Amino acid sequence: MEQKLKSEAKALLEQGKVDYIVGFEPGSLKFTTTPLITKDKEATDRLVINPFIVNNLATFLTELKGRIGIVTKGCDSRSIVSLIQDNKVAREDVVIIGVPCPGIIDLSKIEQLVSKDRDELDEISRKGEKVTVTVDGKKSEFPASEALHDNCLGCELPTPQECDILLGEPTSPINEKSASQTKINQLKEKASPDRWQFWKEQFNRCIRCYACRNVCPACFCERCFVEESEPQWLLPVPRWQENLMFQVVRNIHVAGRCTDCGDCERACPVNIPLRSLTKEMYDIVGDLFQFKSGMDKDAPSLMTHYEQEEAEDFIR
Ligand code: SF4
Ligand code: SF4
Ligand code: SF4
Repeated sequence: MEQKLKSEAKALLEQGKVDYIVGFEPGSLKFTTTPLITKDKEATDRLVINPFIVNNLATFLTELKGRIGIVTKGCDSRSIVSLIQDNKVAREDVVIIGVPCPGIIDLSKIEQLVSKDRDELDEISRKGEKVTVTVDGKKSEFPASEALHDNCLGCELPTPQECDILLGEPTSPINEKSASQTKINQLKEKASPDRWQFWKEQFNRCIRCYACRNVCPACFCERCFVEESEPQWLLPVPRWQENLMFQVVRNIHVAGRCTDCGDCERACPVNIPLRSLTKEMYDIVGDLFQFKSGMDKDAPSLMTHYEQEEAEDFIR
């Protein structure tokens, strides 16, 4: 897949079909990748596909001008479709290079499985349903269901369905939906006052760095409400009340747009379990409106249309 990606990406730039290629290159730390955004056809040799291509690159589409060839996993392709539905991206301006995605390895889970820091690991590899970790020459094998990110365990679209170039054979979802929900369900089982206390403590730790917003392709407002001064919706001081309100409003803004890519939770420097909010909203949207974001570019986006039979008068 990686060789095919390099040659396809180079050809797209050489033939003038795109202005930029957006993909992944090796990161500066072990077992990481970093986004590569380039106009240089020689730089396409640095592109990689491996079990660590974690970022949702769709977020760059609203920032770059011109035609873009973009490396896309299933969840990222849904974010692109959602941006098309919201008229933030024109379909003809993107060449979607699809990666059938068997799931992304969660380094924190690997560290816990082998009780080692990531710097102490020699190698991590994935073959089918097994992940092999090598430490000091000794190999340990784990089921993929113990080593992948929670959102990948419940992935509904691992192979992009909206795609111009598909780099490999379509892959099936890993289908460990209950494992994907474990953290969320544990929280839901708490009594309401305990859950309130939990979130109060979590948002006491929030430093309002906005990393969760900045990585999210569904957070595309040109001016975020938190930066408004007239009216000033939130004080800039990161008190827990303001921090919680920021997330409540952010979750409403991404309702019907969030694809459960998990990037917001991964970006949080203080490890607030943000997916427990976003995935809950994703499920509520699914239950109430039978709507899954980013599945059909020709369907209207959830928040921009209404039905004649709408229950509430004010919306008609
Ligand atoms: S959610 Fe699905 S498509 Fe996205 S990274 Fe995980 S397995 Fe891949
Ligand atoms: S990434 Fe985490 S710390 Fe930063 S604003 Fe979001 S919730 Fe707060
Ligand atoms: S809210 Fe989080 S999980 Fe949802 S699309 Fe944005 S970054 Fe991805």
